[in-house]
Amino acid sequence: MDRFHDEALGATPFALPRVPALQHPLTAELTGRHRDLLRQLSHGLGSTLHVLLPEVFADNARQFKRALGEAGVSGFVLFAKKANKGRGFVEQCPALGIGVDAASLQEAEQALGCGVPGAHIGITGPGKHPALLNLALRQRCLVAIDSVEELRVFAAQARQTVKALLGGYRGRVLLRCRPASQPRSRFGMSPEEREAALQLCLAHRDVIDMEGFSFHLSGYSIAARAEEAHRMIDACLDARSRGLALCASINIGGGFAVRYVDEAHWSDFLRQQQPRHYHAGKSFDDFYPYYSAAPGHEMLSAILAHAVDGRALALRLREHDIRTLLEPGRALLDQAGFTAFEIQSVKHRHGAGDAGQDYGIVTVGGTSFSLSEQWFNSEYIPDPLLLPRQDGAVGDAYAACVGGASCLDGDMVSWRKIRFPQPPQPGDLLLYLNTAGYQMDSNESPFHDLPLPAKVVVTMHQGKPCWRLDSRPHADFA
Ligand SMILES: *Cc1c(COP(=O)(O)O)cnc(C)c1O
Repeated sequence: MDRFHDEALGATPFALPRVPALQHPLTAELTGRHRDLLRQLSHGLGSTLHVLLPEVFADNARQFKRALGEAGVSGFVLFAKKANKGRGFVEQCPALGIGVDAASLQEAEQALGCGVPGAHIGITGPGKHPALLNLALRQRCLVAIDSVEELRVFAAQARQTVKALLGGYRGRVLLRCRPASQPRSRFGMSPEEREAALQLCLAHRDVIDMEGFSFHLSGYSIAARAEEAHRMIDACLDARSRGLALCASINIGGGFAVRYVDEAHWSDFLRQQQPRHYHAGKSFDDFYPYYSAAPGHEMLSAILAHAVDGRALALRLREHDIRTLLEPGRALLDQAGFTAFEIQSVKHRHGAGDAGQDYGIVTVGGTSFSLSEQWFNSEYIPDPLLLPRQDGAVGDAYAACVGGASCLDGDMVSWRKIRFPQPPQPGDLLLYLNTAGYQMDSNESPFHDLPLPAKVVVTMHQGKPCWRLDSRPHADFA
């Protein structure tokens, strides 16, 4: 995991910070020994091409489960699938013993179609469509209720099925809380609204199973999550004492950090970067925290160990027999995919740098819609990896920004001038690593009539890579 590419650099046009992307051993193998396969896939399926690595996803899932086990708490992991549209990841979930967090009818349908049992599907999102609530009811999905109004609709649906069918369907719900640390969020219920929802749950106990509380925080604070979780435990105890005996789960949401680059490169980059390092003197107010000291399952362990009033969260969860649900998206996809663009052209700008230096403008086949960070007023910082068309080509280090093949001046894949070890050439591949979590497909569109980029799943069989289109159904019989 802690390997990253580190080509020797020749003389550089001027001092540009390098931010090498951490590379999973499987990615290193594919970009090293199996370059030809990547070239063939790109040749056959076109640029842009997304490569999905479900084996890495599986490892991440196992590590999250292990962290729960080591803390001695019972829990269940739900993959927040909005982070990637690929089918290959969801198909793995049943065999891994994890569920799926879905926020649309289509996401829920995909999960069911991939064999995820309804009871292992969590339904989140605000103001859910009645058809989604109806599906959740009939498939026994666990619905995170976002408002009193939504709970009324869901309870009425459950009551209707009871009238129409012998027994009918009982609704399973969590009450989503608006976190104390994020009072301005449009999601979840305030303490007063939650109280009203609790009353409704009591009134509809014959058709609604109230199973607990949920929250989802933005940002990556360990303490904020642990404190909110402690409050949810208190809320569960209160609900139980008032007769909601099934109230025994808290869902701590997603937002588990990911480490994309190592600490020294990240802090050096933040210190050194300045507008002249970017095409058109561009500057950004904010970057995603590409280095995290406690990413993924380590962050989960830290949350569970975090004490409030001297008591660790894990201890209280065990003491009160409360189950922890979590919904990692990005962190389950850490290192589980990358994106290959073929370089279409390279043009040289003479003396056009803001400090007078020359630099290149690389144009790739595809657009920045396939690297979403641009569309959040920021930039994906880990350095892309150049795979020259011909092995062994040499040349001096070369600085270039990377643009998409559209007619939008702002369609830049990297505004930042990347320090390439040699001049990029048409036909070379440019790989952006670790893009499975939100980067590759959240914002894609058929702009300019370009086809949506292909996704291929690559797995290893007896040391050899094997690929299939992500759209082809596949079952994992573990
Ligand atoms: C987006 C989202 C997640 C996943 O967040 P990550 O940062 O990808 O872990 C989980 N739960 C809810 C409710 C979400 O909206």
